[in-house]
Amino acid sequence: MQHDRGYLSQNDLKLLSERLEVPLYRVNEVVSFYPHFRRQPPPQVRVQVCRDMSCHMAGACELRAALGKIADRFGEQQVHVESVSCLGRCDRAPAVMINERPYMARTARQLEDVVERCVDGHVPEPDFDIDHLAGQSQEWAIDVYRGDARYDAVREFVKSPEPRRVIEALEQAGLLGMGGAGGRAYKKWTDVWQAGGAQKYVVCNADESEPGTFKDRELLLRAPHLVLEGMILGGLVVGASKGYVYVRHEYPEQIAAVDQAIRAAERIGACGRSIFGSGHSFELETFTSPGGYICGEQTALIEAMEDKRAEPRNRPPELQTNGLWDCPTLLNNVETFAWVPSIVLKDQGRWFAEQGRESCRGMRFFSVSGDVRRPGVYEVPNGITFATLLHEYCGGMRDGVALKAAALSGPSGGFVPARIPTRYLGRRFVSQLPPGTEFVELNDLVLDIATFRNIGLMLGGGIVVYGEQRDLVDEALACLKFFRNESCGKCVPCRIGSQKIVQIATDLHERRYDEASFESQTALVNELTQTMQTTSICGLGMVAANPFYGLLRFFPDEVKRYVP
Ligand code: SF4
Repeated sequence: MQHDRGYLSQNDLKLLSERLEVPLYRVNEVVSFYPHFRRQPPPQVRVQVCRDMSCHMAGACELRAALGKIADRFGEQQVHVESVSCLGRCDRAPAVMINERPYMARTARQLEDVVERCVDGHVPEPDFDIDHLAGQSQEWAIDVYRGDARYDAVREFVKSPEPRRVIEALEQAGLLGMGGAGGRAYKKWTDVWQAGGAQKYVVCNADESEPGTFKDRELLLRAPHLVLEGMILGGLVVGASKGYVYVRHEYPEQIAAVDQAIRAAERIGACGRSIFGSGHSFELETFTSPGGYICGEQTALIEAMEDKRAEPRNRPPELQTNGLWDCPTLLNNVETFAWVPSIVLKDQGRWFAEQGRESCRGMRFFSVSGDVRRPGVYEVPNGITFATLLHEYCGGMRDGVALKAAALSGPSGGFVPARIPTRYLGRRFVSQLPPGTEFVELNDLVLDIATFRNIGLMLGGGIVVYGEQRDLVDEALACLKFFRNESCGKCVPCRIGSQKIVQIATDLHERRYDEASFESQTALVNELTQTMQTTSICGLGMVAANPFYGLLRFFPDEVKRYVP
């Protein structure tokens, strides 16, 4: 309905309620939850400016203000400019969408010109993601077919269906879930395989919304067939007959690419009814997310798919037994599914396990942005150091500035300084250092999930790099606002805590504290951080205070500059 005329009127909601035979309040509660749904007629030109991390660093606030002046000139009915959460194009910051089409990395004047032409009805060509792939030279080891979607792993499976063999390959490879938690992929597959029930589902979480993370955007566009093959194999192994790729609505090109890949797979018999004539069936379709960072939380995503507000569930039970429509559900991230074909086809996963270095095997993708020369998506062997990623893949620091800090898990892990005091690091890690070591260099850190667990830091798929010129109090405040804006509000610690932390950080940023009040507020931040970590329902609330907490821990001098 919204696609047809741009918004949902009260009459639309009533019609929907009658057609779906659900009470009107249920329709209302869903429509009011998701940012994508509109209850008012849209302006002729809607401009969205990303305000998070790399875009914030690249001057998104100033750009938003400059474009706001155009809106004043034309009036709200014609041009509406708003700040929004991460648009997944951190490598081309500041990211902007105009009428849901991406325009990036242009000056305010150039974007004003785009808006004016849109008002005149001459919509300029957007900056399509696909055009940016053209200049990439790195070949990916993940793509065993070199772009040719052959679905050999599925062909082999249907000839000789041995679920245990696929699961063993995943175990042998040591593949970890790439959605953030880093659990062993084979365990999840085993749980769903062994769960009872005639109906099971496979869901791919392609709702990549963490600021700084855009690797799935590229995987979906460049190699959708790998994601689909991983899902089809998952379905055949666990006994599911239906799969969904849940993609954020800000990725229209990726949705189209996946839809196209599904149709192509159906044409050659790799999915749909009777896969390659085997009698096994597995249907695939895309599910467009109605928006919001919280939809990437796996249980919230399932709630969204069930036409509810995307509020995370209390766990247990886990999705492996009680997932979509209360059926066993195999839910993995885009990258996890995409690794499956190469792992299954090449030496039962042994080749994957041989990558990387001792104690951290395998390969993975990082998306890197911020103050680096070549922001982008990189496939790397596990266990490289931060310095290798920064210098060999990203070309070093932009404009030769010195490294000040990095956010190694989007905003969730806070900022890690270039020199990390060992007193804040895990005892197990520190015990392996020479006695008396007071600092470790960020450059020397091995980028590996297990290592990071020992250290007590977080490592995700999105890394944002900060140069010496950056004001980290200002950057942290932007991150804290992100979590506050994206909190679903279901539980008190996160709903109230994220708001309170923003208020304290804002007061600091505006230099409202003297020394005594700063001390008491610092104590409150520490207490709130612990409370939110231990009592929030989902990961968002658990990490929402980290940008501030980390700042107090690692950058006390920088913070104190704000206390007169
Ligand atoms: Fe919602 Fe935050 Fe609670 Fe998660 S922690 S359920 S985002 S309120």
